[in-house]
Amino acid sequence: MQALAFDRAHLWHPYSSMSDPPPVYPVVSAAGVRLRLADGRELIDGMASWWAAIHGYNHPRLNRALDEQLGRMVHVMFGGLTHAPAIELGRRLVALTPDPLEKVFLCDSGSVAVEVAVKMAIQYWQVRGRPGKHRLLALRGGYHGDTFAAMSVCDPVTGMHHLFEGALPKQLFAPRPRCRFGDPWDPSDIAELARLLETHRDELAAVILEPVAQGAGGMWFYHPEYLRAVRGLCDAHQVLLIFDEIATGFGRTGRLFACEHAGIAPDILCLGKALTGGYLTLAATLTTAEVAGTISRGAGCFMHGPTFMANPLACAVAAASLDLLLEGDWQARVRDIERQLREELEPCADLATVEDVRVLGAIGVVEMHDPVDLHRLTPRFVEAGVWLRPFGRLIYMMPPYVIEPEDLSRLTGALRRVLSEVER
Ligand SMILES: *Cc1c(COP(=O)(O)O)cnc(C)c1O
Repeated sequence: MQALAFDRAHLWHPYSSMSDPPPVYPVVSAAGVRLRLADGRELIDGMASWWAAIHGYNHPRLNRALDEQLGRMVHVMFGGLTHAPAIELGRRLVALTPDPLEKVFLCDSGSVAVEVAVKMAIQYWQVRGRPGKHRLLALRGGYHGDTFAAMSVCDPVTGMHHLFEGALPKQLFAPRPRCRFGDPWDPSDIAELARLLETHRDELAAVILEPVAQGAGGMWFYHPEYLRAVRGLCDAHQVLLIFDEIATGFGRTGRLFACEHAGIAPDILCLGKALTGGYLTLAATLTTAEVAGTISRGAGCFMHGPTFMANPLACAVAAASLDLLLEGDWQARVRDIERQLREELEPCADLATVEDVRVLGAIGVVEMHDPVDLHRLTPRFVEAGVWLRPFGRLIYMMPPYVIEPEDLSRLTGALRRVLSEVER
């Protein structure tokens, strides 16, 4: 195939080598939960295109929202101008997110939303006369994106710190929370974070973390009580709290936002991924009137403004995606997926190669003892008719919420079958 040869020779794929690129599968179309490959095979999608496609692919409602906006205006600069799609999306985000969050910054991608959050926190302390407060405290096992500030708060071992040694700001890290979601809470879990906050309060602008479910840094689900404790400590030590809900936002963990498991709100919230239902790249950073007001009082403005800020096409499809989510019974769907994932993945725990099986909301994780061999597993999954993309020691699925029980069974069945075959 000439096209594939060109791809191989000229196109970077995520986290890949250009001299020995791993194989890629050409997709020609996608509808519902199915990806159609160029050779006609259909795969059931277990990844929702990295948490994003919560309504499945090629959804008539979302297509219509795009079509209608396409005829009016695809893009216009947001400096000095505004438009209905941004306003409509902003209204929804302010209404849906936890209460004190009411100022919305729309940007291009999750990583940029994290950069924006970090800049907000640093500017905030500058205006308050505390310019020394510019460092961040993050959790081990976290993932926050691939740009520089975002990289600096990713897990220092599995993240990219060693590759960019010297170029990254040095941040502080607390251990990964030990108490699992659903297990009894052990207050000692928060001790090291409390100690770091107390010791470094004069240099810390913010704590940043993924509430309840850590994603790409290890697919780990921890106790919501941890968040209540962090909230209290941040208030006590005058440190802002940033929640990165780029992966967990919009229902994935069983609550609309994962911080609702703890009943608390951050000072700054990052959203992305499922925001547009997986249609276009768009992210948002929300903050409180207090943080926004302080920043604006000082410099007079917040210093960020992407060219494609609040792209109307992306905002229109995001607003439609949120309406679709809220009109449907997403909670029941996520609950059903959770129950089915528990039932059908649990047997994997009996395999000698498997270390742990865990499920939260519409996320199912099988953690292996050893790193998985992508080159070996991926073709097997494709032959079994499913799309799964493991990384490290983790094989996981977070399917579109619209997946039917039979299709979900095919996904989990393929995973169980391939794992037990590979074991032999
Ligand atoms: C994916 C992700 C990001 C980065 O988002 P991009 O759109 O890939 O830049 C940041 N934080 C979390 C928790 C993510 O899952």
